[in-house]
Amino acid sequence: MRPTAAPTILTLALASVTTLFADDGEAQRRRRTDDARRDSDRMRRRSRYERKLEPTTRRGRPVTVRLETPPVAFDAAPPPPSSERPYDHVVMVSLDGLRPDAIMLTDTPNLRRLRQIGAWATEARTITHSYTLPSHTSMLSGVDTDRHGLLHNDFTPRHGFTRAPTALYLAHDAGFTTAMFVSKPKFRHIAIPGSVDVFRLPSSRCAPVVAAATSHIAATREGITFVHLSEPDSAGHHRGWMTLSYLRAIAEADRCVGALLQSIAARADRDRVLLMISSDHGGHGRTHGSTREEDMRIPWIAWGSRVVPGDFATPVSTMDSAATTLVALGLQVPSDWTGRPVQRALSRTAADSQGSGAQRPAGRNSDNSSNGR
Ligand SMILES: [Zn+2]
Repeated sequence: MRPTAAPTILTLALASVTTLFADDGEAQRRRRTDDARRDSDRMRRRSRYERKLEPTTRRGRPVTVRLETPPVAFDAAPPPPSSERPYDHVVMVSLDGLRPDAIMLTDTPNLRRLRQIGAWATEARTITHSYTLPSHTSMLSGVDTDRHGLLHNDFTPRHGFTRAPTALYLAHDAGFTTAMFVSKPKFRHIAIPGSVDVFRLPSSRCAPVVAAATSHIAATREGITFVHLSEPDSAGHHRGWMTLSYLRAIAEADRCVGALLQSIAARADRDRVLLMISSDHGGHGRTHGSTREEDMRIPWIAWGSRVVPGDFATPVSTMDSAATTLVALGLQVPSDWTGRPVQRALSRTAADSQGSGAQRPAGRNSDNSSNGR
């Protein structure tokens, strides 16, 4: 028995070791193939997004909105003063449901002007749960849904308030005036009691919202003013993203942005104001909320005396907006936040401004600290 058993056991052991290695090799190969497939899917989705499919009518005719509105007179900011605190007032504007690739397809003189004089992120994205309330909560609190806990997307009083402190909460604690001018009631979930001095819901249309916001901006020297305009999102749900109605709604929202720009430009201390314009999500068809590029890409624009102007391609997350706001006001970003300050909005110095000019195209590497996250 013995002479025959030994080789059998040895053979079995050898065979299983060989199989083990073969399995390992097979698993590795399969993993590599999966990775490659995922990468190529990602690239395909991305290139499809970047072809910027021109919007068409239902019959397939291309639609464009004519450029006819003049931009508001709004020059580049004067050189930044030397100060520990970069700004005194941050105006955060969210254009609900605005896809960045739609901006240049319609009548948007004010956003185009901001592209010339401000910083324009080409790789900005929202959180993967790309719905209005969860996403705005992340924009204002620097953390994702697992931390702030707002997963629902309508005004439901029994759900209470966000579990994460917002930039408004922290700034209010530090003595700044905080305000929210919004066009949807669900924003009450983000306005933690005692953290927002002024909460106004004037209308679902942008003109009354902006009228209320501009008088507040004119009267408030230090603080955070959050402004939410819902035109693009409403048109997207009603008629579809990238339709003529959607483009017209963006043009309407741009006129409201113009009124905000004027209110900042009218301030004697406009070099102390940082303006950030962004969105909570994009959209496709008549919906959003998925991890598709069309849903997750958002515009992210900053304008102010310390903003390094130009397009930049380092990734920006919507959670970075809250962190940027805090640093802009000279406040500390909580160490457990996911969002990091976008240095691009904060780092221009007087030396940068001399001789470089506001229109200077910016390099790709002088960028934000969310790099490599
Ligand atoms: Zn939304």
